[in-house]
Amino acid sequence: MHCPFCAHADTRVIDSRLLGEGDQVRRRRECQSCKARFTTYETAELSLPRVIKSDGRRETFLDDKLRGGIVKALEKRPVPMERVENAINQIKRRIRERGEREIESVRIGELVMDALRGLDQVAYVRFASVYRSFEDVRAFLEEIERLENELPPDLREQQLELIQSETRPDKSGKSG
Ligand SMILES: [Zn+2]
Repeated sequence: MHCPFCAHADTRVIDSRLLGEGDQVRRRRECQSCKARFTTYETAELSLPRVIKSDGRRETFLDDKLRGGIVKALEKRPVPMERVENAINQIKRRIRERGEREIESVRIGELVMDALRGLDQVAYVRFASVYRSFEDVRAFLEEIERLENELPPDLREQQLELIQSETRPDKSGKSG
């Protein structure tokens, strides 16, 4: 690469080492003309894309936000954390595999719904019913929090039962 000091075209790598868990390479280079030394870092293009919100704003992909939405939907559900982590990693891999620099938040929501469908039906319904109307994980979380603060505990229990009975596949709710 070109020297950042004198723009000379020829620089030499004088040292090269792996960083962290080996997913980054740090290289010391020396300009063949002005002898200036500088460092470059090389990583695979696997960074997560920017998120396009429904109103067009762009924001950084936040791991915690993705995790928060999923964990919230799975609250008090009998799903081991290991499976949740696997699902989160798979969602992130699918996003990275697209190789795009930006992704619509709606697309992320769809991936989350796919993952939840495989993990837990109640969590899926919780997420889908709210997310589909908000198309925004943050709004979803705020709404859940608002509901939780408003509902007395016994009513919350009833709601959960309602969700559970709605998603029970063997239930024949309507008869004529
Ligand atoms: Zn130079």
